[in-house]
Order: sequence, then structure tokens, then C-alpha cells
Amino acid sequence: MRIDIMTLFPEMCEAVLGESIIGRARQAGYVDIRTRQIRDYSADKHRRVDDTPYGGGAGMLMQGQPIYDCFSDICRELGKRPHLIYMSPQGKTLTQQRVKELSQLDNLVILCGHYEGIDERLIEEIVDEEISVGDYVLTGGELPALILSDAVSRMLPGVLASDEAYTGESHYSGLLEYPQYTRPPEWRGRAVPDILLSGHHENIDKWRRQQSLMRTYYRRPDMLSYAELTGKDRQYLETLEKE
Ligand code: SAM
Repeated sequence: MRIDIMTLFPEMCEAVLGESIIGRARQAGYVDIRTRQIRDYSADKHRRVDDTPYGGGAGMLMQGQPIYDCFSDICRELGKRPHLIYMSPQGKTLTQQRVKELSQLDNLVILCGHYEGIDERLIEEIVDEEISVGDYVLTGGELPALILSDAVSRMLPGVLASDEAYTGESHYSGLLEYPQYTRPPEWRGRAVPDILLSGHHENIDKWRRQQSLMRTYYRRPDMLSYAELTGKDRQYLETLEKE
């Protein structure tokens, strides 16, 4: 998969994307993530990309022209029109389900806003989807674009050691993950649950499933309405309801 990030701060994105699991995945060719400096496409002789909003008000707005030309250049390079996502606090909140769907695409272009945002006509003209990372406002779309790129990339074949690394995790099947422990078996008077040291895999799987259900029930009961649940899961949840 190839992801192009259109931004005024490519160095900020590269600093994160060059590190750790995503950095290694890029080097190994499992994912191709590129950053584009929107300013390079400004038709203004001073390379301006923003101006004051019509009607007045605080701050500056990003203009349509440089972003439009930047996107057109990506389309030309790819020989097709890829899906374009604008990171925006006004978009739909990102979910693991949407991440799963986006990871199936061959190409993704992510647009980062800055200042007060972007001229609405640019959004109407070329944006396919607006995605938010939560109900709060950040100074720019770079951190949200990095969140989206990370979440999508880790679902691509080869990026993690195996599919199991993410299929058992929180949100993949609609539940939160069970608690996990590592050495030593006792730390500050807190012991690892005996069952995890028993070596009995069937019992461990059952305990983990019940822990997942319990966590979700107490922390995020809203998720249970769309989680993939078996008959046994429902029976277990009924016992929690009676407590
Ligand atoms: N004036 C805009 C509004 O009230 O909707 C907010 C602009 S914000 C200060 C600047 C940029 O940061 C946005 O264009 C967007 O790209 C990004 N941004 C801020 N918060 C975000 C969020 N929660 N999710 C995704 N992107 C966000």
C-alpha cells in the first residue's frame, strides 16, 4: 500500500514515520509512506499557502490552489485518482473497523490542515472523506495523519510478526483486550494470576475471553452492542449483570 501525506510540516511526519515498527516496515517495503510539502505547489511568488478568512474572524485559512495542485501531482504520478482523506475535527471519529477497511486499499492520500483549517471549496472539490481522531481540537492535522497511517500500516501483511498480533487486540472484534503480565511472577506484592502459569491453554483461553468480556462490560459497555459474541459469551455476561 502507498500512503501520501500532504502537509506543511513533512519533517514532523518523517521524524515519527522513520522510527520503530513503521520505520522498519517502510524500509522493508511492506508499506510505502511519502510526505509532500504543500508549499512547494504554491503559485504565489512568496510561497504563501494561507490567507485571512472572508467575513473576518481570527486566524488564517489554507488556500485551495496549492493543495489542489499537490493532489493533482500525486494523481498524475499514480496514474489514477486515489481516495483522499482530510483529517478534521468535523469528520467521523476513526474506528478500528474503518482502519480495517482502509487497509484494503492500494493507495491513500491524507491531507493535513493547519491554522484555522482549509477553504471549504477545496474540501467540496476533492475530499472524499473527513476523519477525526476525537472530539477535541489540535493545532494541525499532522498528528492525526500519523495516527491514521500507523493504524492502517500495522494491519498490512508483514508489518507485524503475525495477524494474531492485532486480531486479538482491543477493538478488532469489538472487545477490549484481556490484561497481560510478564516476568517476574511477583512484583511489589502483586502476583500474576495462577491460571497464566498453569500451562493449560484451554483454561487460559477461556480466562482471557472472560477477562475481555468483563473489561468491556465495565469500561465500555457501549461496545457490547456491536461486538462479535458467542452464546457462551452472552451467558458469561448475564452472570456479570446479576452481580
Ligand atoms: N477551525 C477548525 C474547526 O473548528 O473545525 C479547526 C482547525 S484545527 C485548529 C487545524 C487543523 O488541525 C484542522 O484543519 C485539521 O486538519 C487538524 N485537526 C485538529 N483537530 C483534529 C481532530 N480532532 N481530528 C483530526 N484532525 C484535526
